[in-house]
Amino acid sequence: MKIFKFGGASVKDAAGVRNVYEVLQKVGFEEVLLVVSAMGKTTNALEEVIKHYFDKSPQLNAAVQEVKKYHNQILIDLFEEEGHEVFFEVNEHFADFEYFLRSNKSPNYSFVYDQIVSFGELISTTIVSHYMSYRGIQSQWLDVRNYVKTDNNYRDANVDWDKTQKAITKIAKKKQLFVTQGFLGSDENGFTTTLGREGSDYTAAIFAYCLNAESVTIWKDVPGVMNADPRYFENANLLNQISYREAIELAFYGASVIHPKTLQPLQRKEIPLFVKSFINPLLAGTSVSKGEDLEPKLPCFIVKKGQILLSLSSIDFSFIMEENISEIFALLHKFKLKVSLIQNSAISFSVCVEDKYANFSELVKILSKKFKVTYNENVALYTVRHFDDNAMKTIEKDKAVLVRQMSRETLQVVVKE
Ligand code: ADP
Ligand code: ASP
Ligand code: MG
Repeated sequence: MKIFKFGGASVKDAAGVRNVYEVLQKVGFEEVLLVVSAMGKTTNALEEVIKHYFDKSPQLNAAVQEVKKYHNQILIDLFEEEGHEVFFEVNEHFADFEYFLRSNKSPNYSFVYDQIVSFGELISTTIVSHYMSYRGIQSQWLDVRNYVKTDNNYRDANVDWDKTQKAITKIAKKKQLFVTQGFLGSDENGFTTTLGREGSDYTAAIFAYCLNAESVTIWKDVPGVMNADPRYFENANLLNQISYREAIELAFYGASVIHPKTLQPLQRKEIPLFVKSFINPLLAGTSVSKGEDLEPKLPCFIVKKGQILLSLSSIDFSFIMEENISEIFALLHKFKLKVSLIQNSAISFSVCVEDKYANFSELVKILSKKFKVTYNENVALYTVRHFDDNAMKTIEKDKAVLVRQMSRETLQVVVKE
């Protein structure tokens, strides 16, 4: 079995869905499991719905209609007859979605979030699966929530590998094309959970691991993994080969082309990961596998924007020692702030963090009781793997550097933008 993952950008409109069909025609679709994300920026649009829902805002209805309109347009573009079953099925999903909004009583933000955002993937896969059949490629739609089993840590659920393995084994012997949702799972009570934003790559890896798949291919709007994000760096070059270890490092530092959790399960079973262009599917792209660390060996640039540089110092000039540091980390963990850099001196301690869940001000309130707290919001963290003098100059040119850190292979700089 091969696992293919098509992300939001690849199915952002009707042309994108047609292109998925073209890609399958070109590269083959026997014994393939397609993992598909929500279309385009649907997850962001659903986050807007959630915001209006909790704010009890009058804009709620307009936000819901927006999501409906977007998908209906794609349906109309793809399917000529309006009587096609897909219209009915997509309407059913929207009916469930609106029913949830009317009837939900839970005040738990993360729970509600997962129940709502999941409709993006349920609808996109319904459309993609029907469209493949419409063009003559028969496929079976799977509700991923029956396969990927998790705990109830909504918005960032942890996979229960034993249960997931058991469930996925059931489809192992079937030789056909499957279409399923990325990003989603379900908890013990059957409620929908999600694996964290951009988590569909991880779903592909979960299936690959449990099915002992031959390979995973993630289809992207770029030629493969490059030595820098081409959105921010001119002259980015394609990397042909990356080892698992190097890819884990790149993803960890924020190369958003691969979700960081994706690589460990693949590395454990040495399943190769290909990152390829959905525009030119026959090109080789990047292979992440056992073997050379990086080919060609180039400095790799990673930028993470919207970070916060938080600095703590002791109020009475006492040292910041193990016990303070462990307390600070326990709080960072509790408030789900992801740490991307650490620096400390005798009486001060700085971390660069990402506030994914809007908890930062709460944390500052607590820390201020014990420490002198200062912070810079909206800073950028640049990481260069395999840096040289030239790479260092490029990064720091015309920027106000707040922190610089260097190890043998990695340079990190926090700058004011
Ligand atoms: P998906 O549609 O699968 O969600 P993403 O938008 O998450 O795709 O990932 C593709 C994007 O990742 C590219 O458009 C590119 O801007 C960005 N990207 C970041 N770092 C890299 C890199 N090192 N190489 C290639 N693309 C990168
Ligand atoms: N649709 C989800 C998101 O936008 C998951 C994914 O695309 O990987 O975060
Ligand atoms: Mg994505």
